[in-house]
Amino acid sequence: MANKEMKHSSNIAGAWFCTDPDDDNGEGCIACNVCYTGAPEFFAEDDDGNAYIKKQPETEEEKELCVEQLEACPVNSIGNDG
Ligand code: SF4
Repeated sequence: MANKEMKHSSNIAGAWFCTDPDDDNGEGCIACNVCYTGAPEFFAEDDDGNAYIKKQPETEEEKELCVEQLEACPVNSIGNDG
């Protein structure tokens, strides 16, 4: 489960978040590009290639797309505390 105490500072406010790459619990983003390639409307990359949420999903279809990225993230760096 993504560490909600280590959210990336660029996440837009809302339930969904990506964790900071400096998360020392082993769940920090490793810039693998899965999420912002798979759902570029909602995930973006910072200057280091680390992901953050740029738009919160609203519809069920949008949320399902984000769930797919959450499940695909290799290091549990995507969370939803809504
Ligand atoms: S899928 Fe996970 S590790 Fe890969 S860029 Fe997205 S948040 Fe980072």
